[in-house]
Parts: sequence; C-alpha cells; structure tokens
Amino acid sequence: MDDKLLAHHIAERRTFAIISHPDAGKTTLTEKLLLYGGAIKLAGAVKAKRGRASAVSDWMEMERERGISITSSVLQFPYRGLSMNLLDTPGHADFSEDTYRTLHAADGAVMLLDCAKGVEAQTKKLFRVCRQRKMPIFTFVNKMDRPGREPFDLVGEVENVLEIGVYPVTWPIYRGATFRGIVYRGFHKDEPKRVYLFDAARAGVSSALLGSEVAPVTVTGLDDPALVRELDDEGYSRLLEESALLDEAGDAFDGDRFLAGEVSPMFFGSAMNNFGIEAFLEAFCQRMPPPVAREGSKGKVDPLGAFSAFIFKIQANMDRSHRDKVAFLRVCSGRFERGMRVHHVRTGKAMRLANPTTFLAQERTIVEEGFAGDVLGVYDPGVFEIGDTLTAGENFTFEEIPSFSPEFFVRVMMVDPLRRKQLKRGLDQLAQEGTIQQYTPERGGDPILGAVGRLQLEVVKHRLKSEYDVDARLEPLACDFVRWVSREDGGELDLLAFDRERVGIPARDVRGRAVVLFAGEWQLNSAKREFSGIKYTETAFGA
Ligand code: GDP
Repeated sequence: MDDKLLAHHIAERRTFAIISHPDAGKTTLTEKLLLYGGAIKLAGAVKAKRGRASAVSDWMEMERERGISITSSVLQFPYRGLSMNLLDTPGHADFSEDTYRTLHAADGAVMLLDCAKGVEAQTKKLFRVCRQRKMPIFTFVNKMDRPGREPFDLVGEVENVLEIGVYPVTWPIYRGATFRGIVYRGFHKDEPKRVYLFDAARAGVSSALLGSEVAPVTVTGLDDPALVRELDDEGYSRLLEESALLDEAGDAFDGDRFLAGEVSPMFFGSAMNNFGIEAFLEAFCQRMPPPVAREGSKGKVDPLGAFSAFIFKIQANMDRSHRDKVAFLRVCSGRFERGMRVHHVRTGKAMRLANPTTFLAQERTIVEEGFAGDVLGVYDPGVFEIGDTLTAGENFTFEEIPSFSPEFFVRVMMVDPLRRKQLKRGLDQLAQEGTIQQYTPERGGDPILGAVGRLQLEVVKHRLKSEYDVDARLEPLACDFVRWVSREDGGELDLLAFDRERVGIPARDVRGRAVVLFAGEWQLNSAKREFSGIKYTETAFGA
C-alpha cells in the first residue's frame, strides 16, 4: 500500500473509551453513538441488561453472550467519514482492572457524568489512568432531563476534584423536566453561538419510542427573536446571563492543553432522549485526535511506520466448545493484513496471526486489514501475555501496562487435593487473563489471589468449577493492599524478614517479583519503621 493511502486510513481512525461510574448511562450513550453513526437502525439493540437479578448472575449471562456482545471490547463503526473504534468493557465497578487496561489501548476518552451525582468513585479511578497517560478527555454530563446539580456547580466539581480545567462547549437551557435545549458555544469565543431546541412536544412522548430515533431539533442563533417566544422572558434572560458569564469568566480554549489532558471540553445533554448528542458528536469529530506516536523502548513509534501493536487483553474460553483464547491487540503503527507474519518480541519468534476479528455492533467479522488505531481480536495459541509487543520485525517494546493495586485478597483452599494440578492450571490461566493477581507466599502454603473488585473473586470460583472442574474455597485474608518491594540500593532483599517481624505477608507475584501484603496503612508504617532503605510501590509498573 502506498504511503499516502496508509496515511489517509490512519488519519480517519478515532480510538476512544467511555469512562463512567455504573448507571451514568454508558450503555445508553454507546447505543446512541451507534445510532447516529448508522451502525444500528434501532437503539436498544446493544445490550439488554435492564432488570438484572444480581451482579454474579448478570456476569454469567454476560459470559454466555461473550464474543458477540458489546462486552467484547471494541465496536467499530463509521461516522462522518471517520472510522470510530469505541473501546468498551463491562460496566460493573468490579471489572475495573479490565477497564484500566483498555484505557491503554485508547487515544482519548469520554468521561460521562450523571448530572445529579457529579464525579463518582469509579469515574475518579478511571480518570487517574487517563491522566497518567495524558490523553484528551471529553466530558459529557448526562440525564439533564432529570433533576440534577447546577451546571456551574458541576464544572467546579470536575475542576476541583479531578484537577483538570473545564471548557463548556455546550450549555443547557433549563434543566430537569423543563430541559429545553443547549447552546453550542464552540471552541472560540467569537464563534457564532447556536441554539439547539429540542422538540418539547416529542419530549413528552414515550421515551422508548423517542430515544430510538435521531431526535429532531431546531437550530437557531442566540439572537433569534423566536427564542423569546419559545423560552419566555425569564428563561431567555437567564440564558443570556449565563452565556455572558461563561464568556467573561472562562479562559479561551487551549487546544494543546486539551491534547495533553489538562483541559476538558464539557457537554450537556440526555443520552436517553438524544438531546445534545449531535452537538457533542460534531465537536468530538472535530477535536478527537487520530492515533499519535506512542512511547516505545527505542523512542517514539510513528503511526505511519511499519506494523506494530501491543496486547492489552486476553479472554479465554470465549467459545466453550473450542476452549479458544482471544488476544486483543491495539495496532499502534502501520497496516495489519490477514495472515501476515509478525515478530513476537518477548519470545523472539515469528508467527502468523490467525482469524483476526473485528466487532461491529452484534457481529464478529474476520477482517482483511487493519490500521494504526484499530483493535483486533486474534486467536491466541497460548503464547501471548498482556503487554506483549508485536512488530513487523523490529526489536522494541511498548511501555508496560501497569497492573493495578488489588483491594480484595483471598487464600485459595483446595477441597480436593487430588486436583491440585488442575487448580494450578486454572489459576495460572485466569491470572494470565489479568483479571486477578496471583501471589505465592514466600513461606509456602496456599496461593493468594488479589482482585480489584470482590465480584471478580466470585467469578474466579465459578470459572474454576465450570472450566477446570475444581472446587475451591476462598478464605478472605485480612489484607488491605499489596506493595511491590525492592531495596533502594538495588541489593538483595530479605523478603522473609517481613514474616519474621510480623509486618505483613511476603510473597511473589507471577513474575517472581517481591510483594508484601499489608493489613493496613498502620502495618506498612510499622514495616517502614522496622526496615530502612526499602522502596514500596503501588503497582508492579515501576517496581
Ligand atoms: P450504564 O450502567 O452506565 O451502562 O448505564 P445505562 O446506560 O444502563 O443507564 C442507566 C439507567 O439510566 C438506565 O435506566 C437508563 O435508561 C437511564 N438513563 C440513561 N441516560 C439517561 C438520560 O439521559 N436521562 C434519563 N432520565 N435516564 C437515562
């Protein structure tokens, strides 16, 4: 393929994720993006998850659907001449480890907030990852059709809690039941403002019906006399007042700071009613950058260069009858072609990637080619690990994907000692998928598991039984967190000393790196008093 065509394909890629707290409306917004993109005719087809019984049964249901549903990591759809790659993960708080990794495959994010709740716990955690990666972040305040907090209040909260600048690109006209529309302020103060009025009559229609079509709007200017009629005097003057306040009080939009993840353009709307979505999408298409150079061990990797990719997710047993494993890779540069030979940097082996798959709404399809920015699922014959780099032949690696500090810990007790081998195989496998972390106590004894969420541990137990026929008992450990430990001077660490002095449980992670599990901050402090010259890090990354 000639360079110009390659550059053209890459320039139209937009690879992003939606970060939010469960229930903020991520599924709804995703449906609407697909709807506007023309990928689905009727919204509501993405995932039916209403009225779920319990988190665990929901997971099992999800598992059954795995491979064909939105939970399969990426949705590709065209929109306004662009090729969107929307990365997604299950919305449970408990699956955050996966979400964290997925964010590493994204070039930008949409932070979705519920207007009544503002910045919630899960949003904060996910935001931290985006911040670490300095990626551009759009903010969409959802559910404006419902009672919520004052927009100025929400702007302030995002600025204070997340320490990021906010630039309101749209602004709501009325809120709650009387939410009538938005003003599109654009990115420059002298840009003419546009008013989008939503059809009030239709807003009263059953939302299920309304939400399934692209919402009709009237677009007009702020000085349109008809607005006074539409909004009444008080509403109109409030709109002018707020608009003037925004113009005077706010800084100009700084494109460079946006790209560095320091300032976020903010939008208001209602995903369910399709209100404010179009204006958001327009701005998103204008401002979301195509793939940029990523950091590699031998310097920046130009997206226009030869093929390179890294693996950010591995999912085993997607198809029960075949026991197959799928590795998800993010193409970082160049072009990928079906059946192409690639270089697996960690093992130094050449390999062919079988069955490259992409995901459009409900379907999995084999793809012939992919470009920088795309995410593909490939068959994993058991050689891949999360973070592996694939290239066209060069020897470099992409930055390691940090694994996050687990918050829940259990000891795995065997019910049937004769199935020790199967247990080991199952645990190794699940740890390799990266949804849990496995530690081997330095003093010996049963393996310890750590997870970001409690539900993940339930899922492990369930999968050990159903996929490996092993009954395991998970005994909660009174541990709060784990730290990777090393000597500051790089010398040999006496790991068992932590056990002797009873200041934590020393263990090794799957790569043999030293860790200590602590019962709480107080115990970590005791350890710090007991031993000097030791470095404690929160994630394996940088340990
Ligand atoms: P997720 O957990 O973030 O994927 O959230 P969902 O998309 O499933 O939405 C959670 C609930 O909020 C559902 O009952 C939605 O119908 C509802 N919802 C989503 N967007 C809106 C909105 O704009 N307005 C209102 N009133 N409800 C919404």
